[in-house]
Amino acid sequence: MTGWLRRWRRKRILAQKRIPERLWQEVIAAQPLLMRMSVPAQQQLHELATLLVAEKRFYGIAGLQVGPWQTTTIAALGCVPVLELGLDWYRGWCSIVIYPGGFRARHAYPDDAGVIHEQVTELIGEAWDGGPLVLSWEDIQGGVRLDGYNVVLHEFAHKLDMRNGVANGMPPLHRGMSRRDWTRAFTNAWNQAQAAAAAGEELVLDRYALESPGEFFAVACEVFFELPERLCAGYPAVYEQLRRFFRQDPLQRSSSSQAIYRPLTTERN
Ligand SMILES: [Zn+2]
Repeated sequence: MTGWLRRWRRKRILAQKRIPERLWQEVIAAQPLLMRMSVPAQQQLHELATLLVAEKRFYGIAGLQVGPWQTTTIAALGCVPVLELGLDWYRGWCSIVIYPGGFRARHAYPDDAGVIHEQVTELIGEAWDGGPLVLSWEDIQGGVRLDGYNVVLHEFAHKLDMRNGVANGMPPLHRGMSRRDWTRAFTNAWNQAQAAAAAGEELVLDRYALESPGEFFAVACEVFFELPERLCAGYPAVYEQLRRFFRQDPLQRSSSSQAIYRPLTTERN
């Protein structure tokens, strides 16, 4: 679709298929993350979420009935990262698959000898490169608290990371940002986290971040939006890079919030 046609279509969607105001307000009220945003930011999010609902296909499986409450909740949370970037950052894939709860995923991987093995993992979310985004509805509902744990933010962050290839912890950076500064900030934080984990100390991010640089980025994004004070205190250079990337400063919003951090143990992907 050309840029002109897409803009025309989006204008029409906003005029005809806008998420109803009452439903939107109920979804906002159920999510502390959205409640603490300014009214203009919530309105901007309303437009983005309306477009996301129209442009993606939502599939409930394993018996889950997907209705406006589910699609609006997922779209509202999923559009937080692109609030200042625009919906085009989510182009190139079309499906959002929702399980009632955690699900089992089968992955094939080669060993050093080139032999293919199959592994079954219990997951609560998954993002495929160029493919669907998969979520557990139970964990979306359970992730309402501002505790640095949000499976929707996590999986959509992977989608941003995948815009320039595999999820390696570095999405395409904006003009004026430096790959060297980004790499230095994340590498230093990664090394600190490894050392803290080895010493048995409390970690700034959930231990799952240490699975890979891609997971470190996705978990850092969850904490950036939900507990910005924690990320800023623990890894100020990472906070600064994410602030520049997302063009948002969640610290400005959260000064009045009462956030609690809890260590997390659930498996993600
Ligand atoms: Zn992940």
